[in-house]
Amino acid sequence: MASPRVAVVGAGLVGLSTALRITEALPSCRVTILSEQFSPNTTSDVAAGMLIPHTYPGTPIHVQKQWFKETFTYLFAISSSAEAPEAGIHLVSGWQVFKNPPKDEVPFWSDVVLGFRSMSEAELQKFPQHKYGQAFTTLKCDCPPYLLWLENRLKANGVHLHTRKVADLWELHGEYDIVVNCAGIGARQLVGDQQLFPVRGQVLKVHAPWVKNFVRDGDGSTYIYPGVHSITLGGTREKDSWHLSPDSGTTKDIFDRCCSLEPSLQRAQDIRVKVGLRPSRSHVRLQREVLSRGGAKLLVVHNYGHGAGGFSVHRGTAEEAARLVAECIAALQGSLSRAKL
Ligand code: FAD
Repeated sequence: MASPRVAVVGAGLVGLSTALRITEALPSCRVTILSEQFSPNTTSDVAAGMLIPHTYPGTPIHVQKQWFKETFTYLFAISSSAEAPEAGIHLVSGWQVFKNPPKDEVPFWSDVVLGFRSMSEAELQKFPQHKYGQAFTTLKCDCPPYLLWLENRLKANGVHLHTRKVADLWELHGEYDIVVNCAGIGARQLVGDQQLFPVRGQVLKVHAPWVKNFVRDGDGSTYIYPGVHSITLGGTREKDSWHLSPDSGTTKDIFDRCCSLEPSLQRAQDIRVKVGLRPSRSHVRLQREVLSRGGAKLLVVHNYGHGAGGFSVHRGTAEEAARLVAECIAALQGSLSRAKL
């Protein structure tokens, strides 16, 4: 097969980064992205984009660490290049603080981020309600700019991007040889995955350019993540809520919690409120599947369910999805040569 036709469904972070990795690793493929929404209207646009891993209970830790490491290495190289401002990738230092020391004082990702250490007594004085903390430097993606940068790279690599809602993967049979499902929370309807559920997140984007360090309360409920153009203040984690409108009581609560960690935020201006639905599952569905219907076959690669940690692992999962696409191509080539015999 000279040029396998690959459709990637979804144009959030996962769809765009997966399509890009496919074009890099398998340049003979003709890749098309089909998506109901593009940036700035995806969940990925709402995210803070910090590289601090979320733990997936159903995935072995060494696999999660590998995904995080590949993502960190990839983005670190961009942050150290002339591309950094356009891609919206930058290093950021700060603190994760705890009211009580956590069970695991050295998380699995501590040797991937830079300069991980326990906070000193002097540093802890900034957080009188907290007893313990970790200081480190990590990376942050400014979300809409990074998604736009990915889109531009894809166009430069010859990928076509079309607005289209896919109601059933079988619609794509005949038009494409392989379908890559990166539909995020949309996969619940698209492939009927009942293990996938939304975790609603509300955040504030504010202007407070004097805040340079990130602060995260260790339980992940409250965070202050400075980006290039705005600071993300969070947040909420509301399981099974599909409610996309901002809640004003929640906005006030987030703002108050963040001000108690960083009082200077009381002077923040230009407060905008965003809501997104994290596509959550016990583990990312990263899997090859052959669908059959009336003698016809459709080769599918699933890559969705990144929950609260898509930015932290996206390049690693894109790498694995591209490898699964290569397996599909090998299977197609095998069946073509068997048909010729
Ligand atoms: P999406 O961005 O939702 O993209 C899905 C795409 O599929 C969309 O383009 C959609 O239109 C398309 N689609 C869906 N159904 C169909 C269909 N039937 N046909 C065609 N197209 C379809 N992660 C981190 O690592 N660090 C963070 O700091 C961080 N902060 C976050 C803060 C908040 C408030 C939220 C909500 C999330 C945060 N996340 C963070 C998580 C991260 O945003 C997600 O893991 C990630 O964005 C998921 O990307 P995705 O591409 O799978 O989904």
